[in-house]
Amino acid sequence: MNHPLPAGFDIAPPEMLRALRFDNRFVRELPGDPVDSPRPRQVRDACWSPVLPTPVREPRLIAHSAEVAALLGIPDADIASPEFAKIFAGNSLHAGMQPYAACYGGHQFGNWAGQLGDGRAITLGETVNAKDERWELQLKGAGLTPYSRTADGRAVLRSSIREFLCSEAMHHLGVPTTRALSLVSTGEPVLRDMFYDGNAAHEPGAVVCRVSPSFIRFGNFEILASREDKALLERLVDFTIARDYPHIAGDTTERRRRWFEEVCERTALMISHWMRVGFVHGVMNTDNMSILGLTIDYGPYGWIDNFDPDWTPNTTDSGQRRYRFGHQPQIAQWNLSRLASALLDLFPSPEPLEAALERYVDVYTESQEAMTAAKFGFKSWRAEDDELTGEALRILRDAEMDMTIFYRALAKIDVKRPSVDMLDQCFYREDLRGKNETALDHWLVRYATRVRADAEPAEVRVARMNAVNPKYVMRNYLAQEAIDAAHEGNNAPVIDLLDVMRHPYDEQPGRERYAKKRPDWARQKAGCSMLSCSS
Ligand code: AMP
Ligand code: MG
Repeated sequence: MNHPLPAGFDIAPPEMLRALRFDNRFVRELPGDPVDSPRPRQVRDACWSPVLPTPVREPRLIAHSAEVAALLGIPDADIASPEFAKIFAGNSLHAGMQPYAACYGGHQFGNWAGQLGDGRAITLGETVNAKDERWELQLKGAGLTPYSRTADGRAVLRSSIREFLCSEAMHHLGVPTTRALSLVSTGEPVLRDMFYDGNAAHEPGAVVCRVSPSFIRFGNFEILASREDKALLERLVDFTIARDYPHIAGDTTERRRRWFEEVCERTALMISHWMRVGFVHGVMNTDNMSILGLTIDYGPYGWIDNFDPDWTPNTTDSGQRRYRFGHQPQIAQWNLSRLASALLDLFPSPEPLEAALERYVDVYTESQEAMTAAKFGFKSWRAEDDELTGEALRILRDAEMDMTIFYRALAKIDVKRPSVDMLDQCFYREDLRGKNETALDHWLVRYATRVRADAEPAEVRVARMNAVNPKYVMRNYLAQEAIDAAHEGNNAPVIDLLDVMRHPYDEQPGRERYAKKRPDWARQKAGCSMLSCSS
């Protein structure tokens, strides 16, 4: 860094993060913006802009992920030091870091939105751990960048808690995702209009350090294609393959073909995991789609309580419901086709891209079938299971039954005497239970017959089911309870919830309250059943 550091900004003492080895390939190998200021602007001929985090008043570590710290090689002593909170609030820099904001565009709610970019995310650098794994460290909420447009570059505590907890929960659920190292409160208020209704209020601010092998999004490619900058687009594609897909070999065209195909495959797997655990992303814009097929940008996401394919947590999307639960597989394919369009000029013909988009459907269908078979406990998928499982989902929807509790309860079925009683805990409404009980009775008898046909010991089936059907998910109301406590100065519930979510498939005796269905008070409460993009 060749300019004076701003007021309140330090270089971290050399003993901090000593174990981290930085190797900042993105800024080393791709062209950067020559302008060194956060003034909002269109950035051309560059993939990134140099920018320092803006220091905050009073950084305090609220929580950290022990698993991510271990992954990076950060010892407990570093985490306990006040310097740790300073670095991960953006008040202090390790000598190996080269902070930047990435330039990307995106399709938002179906429309091309032009340049977006890291408006409040600042990558500190890329670390390489003892296992030679590359992990990029990125602060979210660390201040203005050239991509902040008219916004403030900051994040509120509530959305930071949600991102921190959910990305770690998703990892432990086995869903491909970015990770989170730390959650730091800033001691500074942030002004937000939570429901865009003219009632702006100050809320506490926070910074999350996100961790991922790569934060490249579909939008990083789209912005270059939209500017017809083919040379830089090619460089970015070849960089992404070399850094993030190093196993792909062959000549240039073959490598690019195989790469896009793998992006499609990974995206398909990610979506089928979302459908398995009941996760609704809420803002599947192409700028929020990771090139590695990781769940990225936790905003107004939500979890399915009562099974409803039409549900979206995002109030900004409540009219169109573009990003509703059941629509996510189609949206991901639409997003991939936007990426394919951006890449079109790099291929001699569109066929390889079209084939890869079809491959998305095949991989999604295959994994969805395998996942559904496992969720219902079948040894393997049979064509006729489509009808049987489809009927179950119809009943779950009509009777407003809790998705997560249903699958765990189903594992306990007595195949000789199936009874609706074992599903007692699933119902939100007695009247809908009454209306659907006969259908459910019939279904359970058919299901028991299907399970008996597999002729295997019950414990094998139960283990198969409980390995894919979590007992604990990050229910919207649980996150909200932790947020309410943190707003009162009590961070213990955030830490407790993180701890529960570390073992989502285990019974965890004594913690059953975290597995309970959504309480009535949370049905229509802000933060529990509806969220806006304001964060
Ligand atoms: P999102 O919908 O959160 O993925 O954000 C879309 C775009 O808005 C991205 O370019 C973000 O960086 C930017 N953005 C969102 N919130 C802020 C904020 N508070 N300050 C600056 N930029 C933001
Ligand atoms: Mg985003």
